[in-house]
Amino acid sequence: NLELQSVQQREKELSTRFEVAEYELSISLSKKVTLYEAMNLTLDTIIRLTGAERASIMLWDEKEELLTVKAARGVDAEPFGLYKIKSGEGIGGWAFEHGRVCVVNDVRKDSRFIKSPSNQKEIKSIICLPLIAEDFKMGVIIVGTLSKYHDFTKDEIKTLELIASRSALVIDNVILHENEKIYIEELKEKTDKLNAIVRDMGDGVLLFDKNGSITFFNRAAEYIMNRTEEQVIGNEWTSLITLRDDEGKPVSIEPSFKFKRSKGFINTAPEERKFLSATATPLLNPHGEKIGGIVVISDMSKEKEIEKMKSEFVSIVSHDLRSPLTSVKGYASMILHYNDKLTDDKKKEFLEIIIREVERLVRLIKSLLDLAKIESGRFESQKMPVEIIPLIQNVMDTYRSSEIHKINMNIKRDLPVIMADPDQLEQVLHNLVGNAIKYSPEGGEVEVGGYLEDNKIIIYVQDQGIGIPEEEIEGVFDKFHRVKSGHRIAGAGLGLFITKNIIDAHEGRIWVESSHGKGSKFIFSLNL
Ligand code: ATP
Ligand code: MG
Repeated sequence: NLELQSVQQREKELSTRFEVAEYELSISLSKKVTLYEAMNLTLDTIIRLTGAERASIMLWDEKEELLTVKAARGVDAEPFGLYKIKSGEGIGGWAFEHGRVCVVNDVRKDSRFIKSPSNQKEIKSIICLPLIAEDFKMGVIIVGTLSKYHDFTKDEIKTLELIASRSALVIDNVILHENEKIYIEELKEKTDKLNAIVRDMGDGVLLFDKNGSITFFNRAAEYIMNRTEEQVIGNEWTSLITLRDDEGKPVSIEPSFKFKRSKGFINTAPEERKFLSATATPLLNPHGEKIGGIVVISDMSKEKEIEKMKSEFVSIVSHDLRSPLTSVKGYASMILHYNDKLTDDKKKEFLEIIIREVERLVRLIKSLLDLAKIESGRFESQKMPVEIIPLIQNVMDTYRSSEIHKINMNIKRDLPVIMADPDQLEQVLHNLVGNAIKYSPEGGEVEVGGYLEDNKIIIYVQDQGIGIPEEEIEGVFDKFHRVKSGHRIAGAGLGLFITKNIIDAHEGRIWVESSHGKGSKFIFSLNL
């Protein structure tokens, strides 16, 4: 009998070792095991070994500061996540808090035992094993019998302790691995997002490695530098871009990456007419070693252009304001000082000049006021019924006096009355006819015409003057825009800008047909 017992004992031991070996093998073999799989494998092994009906793993939730069921096996297993206990609470909490195994063969005799909140079968014997990996308490394994009281043997306890310490390591590893996976995924997502931003942002971005070879060239850079990424990848970045200071002297950037941050401008081919500014910054790895650099290129052409036009505008306007005042003052003081010596005709001539100059001043100041109104969005039209032919006639009369220009009106039929702001319409015609004369310094014919077309009134002003080069046509209605074709005719570059704003306020359209050297035709249409 004794012999039989020891044979059974040895058999049991053998099978226990076999179980543990199998458990370890399966976990270490499946490297890609998930946390869920690792925990269930642990619990299955425990149930098979002990014959307990229930086993669960609770892990410590650092945010909540509670132990939470993460896996459960056996009859009436606790629903996941619902059962939470504090550290030190119940037998499981005690084992966790103290980091020690706790065996209770009869829960009735242990005051720490808390009855399960749900009306399930009650546990009779329980063993709780802390999950500790590298001094870090992760949670607790709880094993319980339901049908009978059980005395846990030393062997069982030892085996369970072995499994607990082994599974703590595995769970720790798996959690680490899963966190790593989540981290890598998040990192990838962030990198993708960042890549998309950098690729599509409005400024040009160029990256180069520690040898100075270009490794990245975004779309804006392709556009600004007029090169494709393919063309520049691998090239020395300094061969593509030379930074220059305000005076055009090259900004020295040492290839040894001694530079901290350099700002400068980039020369482009003159026909590109681009004004580029760039900032080069070295890139450092976390150890402070230079691993490359980044160059941000912005196209400042528009800003530069506006800046240039503004300063030109200020000098032209101050000149235009001063010159009529100079002649007004000159002629007025002549009349005052030489009153007796001047004939009445001369006096009349001088006074006429004074009035003309003052009118010029008033027009210029009006343009400036209109500009201010347009800029601040206070530009409005007071519409009323307007007869357009007398209005055109009126404007033309003020220009009749010119000797080298012939001014004709070409309107065959009566035009219907339209709703418009008469003062503004008159201003439009003044600007157009004024330009036509001003930009025909050799003289010639200026024709103002009008006709009906598709429920619209079309008015045009045609001259035989210097014309507008094709590439300049697009910009003539922009503010301060003056054609740079070498003519030295004075102007503020505001007339057509204001004209366009007036036509827009009337829901009309204005455009120009012109060929350089042969004259221009400005046309606008107004809805009836
Ligand atoms: P302002 O009218 O404000 O006194 P401006 O005549 O220079 O100054 P705009 O009337 O806005 O300004 O005209 C803009 C530019 O378009 C002119 O500088 C000129 O180069 C060009 N332009 C306008 N009208 C003609 C025209 N009839 N023929 C040739 N060029 C023209
Ligand atoms: Mg003008």
